[in-house]
Amino acid sequence: MELIFAKSKEGRKGTSLPRTDVPVASAIPEKFRRQKPAELPEVTEQDAVRHYTLLSRKNMGVDTNFYPLGSCTMKYNPKFHERIAVLPGFADLHPLLPQLRHGGGLTQGALAVIYEAQRTLSELLGFADCTMQPLAGAHGELTGIMLIAAYHKTRGDQKRKIMLIPDAAHGTNPASAAVGGFECREVATDSEGNVCIEDLKSKLGQDVAGFMLTCPSTLGLFDKNVKEVCELVHQAGGLNYCDGANLNAIMGRVRPGDIGFDVMHVNLHKTFATPHGGGGPGSGPVGVAECLVPYLPVSRIDKRDDGTYALQYHCDDSIGYIAPFYGNFGVILKAYAYMLSLGREGFKRVSENAVLSANYMRVRLKEHFAQKVDRVCMHECVMSASPQAEKGVHALDIAKALIDRGFHPPTMYFPLIVPEALMIEPTETESKETLDEFIDALIEIAELVDTNPEEILKCPVTTPVRRLDETAAARKPVVADLA
Ligand SMILES: *Cc1c(COP(=O)(O)O)cnc(C)c1O
Repeated sequence: MELIFAKSKEGRKGTSLPRTDVPVASAIPEKFRRQKPAELPEVTEQDAVRHYTLLSRKNMGVDTNFYPLGSCTMKYNPKFHERIAVLPGFADLHPLLPQLRHGGGLTQGALAVIYEAQRTLSELLGFADCTMQPLAGAHGELTGIMLIAAYHKTRGDQKRKIMLIPDAAHGTNPASAAVGGFECREVATDSEGNVCIEDLKSKLGQDVAGFMLTCPSTLGLFDKNVKEVCELVHQAGGLNYCDGANLNAIMGRVRPGDIGFDVMHVNLHKTFATPHGGGGPGSGPVGVAECLVPYLPVSRIDKRDDGTYALQYHCDDSIGYIAPFYGNFGVILKAYAYMLSLGREGFKRVSENAVLSANYMRVRLKEHFAQKVDRVCMHECVMSASPQAEKGVHALDIAKALIDRGFHPPTMYFPLIVPEALMIEPTETESKETLDEFIDALIEIAELVDTNPEEILKCPVTTPVRRLDETAAARKPVVADLA
């Protein structure tokens, strides 16, 4: 890679500002100022612009390439909603501005957005109420787990120490349950990809606090027995937690609250118009059934009789603070704009197209790859490269070959119960032509496995760096190669 440091020449400048004719004063106190000059490259403006433009072109993202990453619903992010989020009336608000009209009119609009987003989401999910505070999906999970703990504690039912979690679950589920003080116990998946009812029954008892189920599951399937599962857990005195990361397969069609779930998180940065990847910002609102409303975290938003909104900090049974101020307000704002722009029919269209695209892919690919269960899928299809692996080409190699063909790879090796998993989520907004190009590339790669597997094992050949030690790249990144 052309490095900007290599182009540095002492004294070269990127700007030509007029000479200042007033004394230079620094606003930064002496003790905080850098002692030695920063070792920045000295280059022309053009060199600096070219450097950053070239770097940006080396990124692969939804704005440059098809990005069918499964499990995380990396979906539509209308650019228009980004513009709404930076409107100065929203973006420039300080969280400590007064809330009420007497001098506080500035925040009433923001509070209204949170309140209305909360109401719309509760309606969409079929819950009594929700909190917009959690800052990510995993944070929402922890919040939900704390609500379940508070519920059992209030009832004096403190022997319930077990959280049941299916073997297909996302890693954050057992992590959240453990951080919340529970012991995790695994529930098996049956041969059809549903929760194994017999195994669930054998694990339910007086010590079970709840069951965390991803709906639709990480296998991309809607559990046919989900209602029975929820009833069994209730009969045993437990609560049902829904991991809603895959909501866009069902939104507008099924309300998890109606099925029997008591608490659920959704990922606004997956389902509601905030791009993700690269670490945020995110938002993981949590919806709850009536029995958990008293424990919701502060702050809560009230709408008063006079039409004003106010944050409530004093709620006796609340689990307390889980995030400061308003949560990730910019993300909530984009989600609310998205909900308004979709409306009831729009939500249905999103889920319909997401499911249609995934099934189109599944059916076209199933002759070429293996499947754990051959069944209509939801928003994503989980294929397995186990036939290719037998010939020495693994899911990872296929992913690298896709990069050379201009596609972001799908999620690999997840869920753990599918060997050589390629979890593909086409999303609802890609054209049939794009889906076909991707499918054709995968089929071409599958055929190469038989004729010239060596070529796949060499991939990627089009990227600035080839195969990295991925653990070292994450743990000990070399962000500027000065050699
Ligand atoms: C993404 C995801 C999570 C965690 O959400 P974050 O927002 O990344 O913390 C949990 N469960 C499933 C199924 C997911 O896909």
